[in-house]
Amino acid sequence: MNNQLQKSNIQPALVEACLILDQLQHAGFTAYIVGGAVRDTLVKRNISDVDIATSATPEQVMAIFPRCIPTGLQHGTVTVLHYGHSYEVTTYRAEDHYKDHRRPEKVSFVEDIYADLERRDFTMNAMALDRNFVLHDPFQGYSDLINGQLRCVGKSDERFQEDALRMLRAVRFCTTYELTPLLSLWRAIAKHRPLLAYIAMERVNYELTRMLSHRSFVSGIQLMQRNSLLLHTKEHLIVAGVWNDLEIGCFVKLNADILTHIDARWAAIFIASNLTSAQTANDLRALKFSNDQRATIVGCVSINEAVRQMHFEEEPLMEHTWVELLLIHHLDQLELWLYQLAPIFAPILYEKLVVIHHSLRIYSVKELCIRGNDLMKWTGQPAGAWVKEQLAHIMKQVATGQLENEREQIQSYVKDKVEGE
Ligand code: ATP
Ligand code: MG
Repeated sequence: MNNQLQKSNIQPALVEACLILDQLQHAGFTAYIVGGAVRDTLVKRNISDVDIATSATPEQVMAIFPRCIPTGLQHGTVTVLHYGHSYEVTTYRAEDHYKDHRRPEKVSFVEDIYADLERRDFTMNAMALDRNFVLHDPFQGYSDLINGQLRCVGKSDERFQEDALRMLRAVRFCTTYELTPLLSLWRAIAKHRPLLAYIAMERVNYELTRMLSHRSFVSGIQLMQRNSLLLHTKEHLIVAGVWNDLEIGCFVKLNADILTHIDARWAAIFIASNLTSAQTANDLRALKFSNDQRATIVGCVSINEAVRQMHFEEEPLMEHTWVELLLIHHLDQLELWLYQLAPIFAPILYEKLVVIHHSLRIYSVKELCIRGNDLMKWTGQPAGAWVKEQLAHIMKQVATGQLENEREQIQSYVKDKVEGE
């Protein structure tokens, strides 16, 4: 299909990218907009970055554009900086002899866009737009896209064997574009899923995170549950092991409108899969999460664990227990659990806990108007574990309104307490 795009579909970023195409063409080369920008234009989604393919070699590209970064010369990619935008400009290339089921051993530059489109993974990613916004779509990617089908360029079997990452990309694209994989593609994943062991865990994390960022992430998890792909990662994921025994429906309650934060989505998956916080920490380590993100996700899972074990029959007890949690966990983790996970995993407690949380006077020991030094001075006792314990106790009293956050009041409270002991 070679069709001209309707004017209303052409976003400013595409028009700006044409300035790059023009300069390449003036220098005697051919050039097209390719990849995600073409696909997203066709489904009327906002485009973020625009990738360009050209017959010019990286050296020729660098000679035309004064401001560029040689991002991946061996793969033919140069990042061109132009009026505040950056474009990945890649020489048309064919790939040959993949090694380790991930990267081509040999990349050769070719003259023709068709050969370049042919090496791309899925038909919807193998389309090109020219300077006049005419669509070049040799593999009928557009019709697959509007029919809701994900299809490999060429034979799925071969494409997944060449590069096992494409299996994860397939699930990600099915989720984020609400597509159904072709049966042959789905079967090819079932056949070649052990090859996922060749893919770095960082890449697995990246693909899963992209998938979870989309509002239909639950259907992506269900696809993963159905095809057992994640049982074959380089490092074992406990969560993938339990999915076999869980019902497909167990993730349906993970409402994307409530779970707006990506870390809450991750935590929700581990909680719905009945993993402990220790098991969650194990999987997050395998997936190479940053310390910060790991702390937040594990924090949410362990708050959920703690809440499950607590007795919340009476409201004063509930308040007391909630403040105890505040003393153990970071406020942001507790609030993430409260506002995004509690409505799903503790719906009966949720509203009561929100009221309690709002009614608290302070949320941490740091908000107290006294410090540990004050306690030592007032009691004449040396430093020790007791200081932290007393501060926590005072914080609880102040948070629940039993004591004012006021130096003199706290001092006399401490004195009374010491005398009473
Ligand atoms: P997004 O940027 O939203 O992830 P994208 O399609 O632009 O989507 P990129 O990873 O930026 O994805 O890759 C750009 C293009 O390169 C893709 O559209 C596809 O044509 C091709 N491509 C990327 N990864 C692969 C791969 N593993 N195998 C074959 N082609 C690929
Ligand atoms: Mg891209």
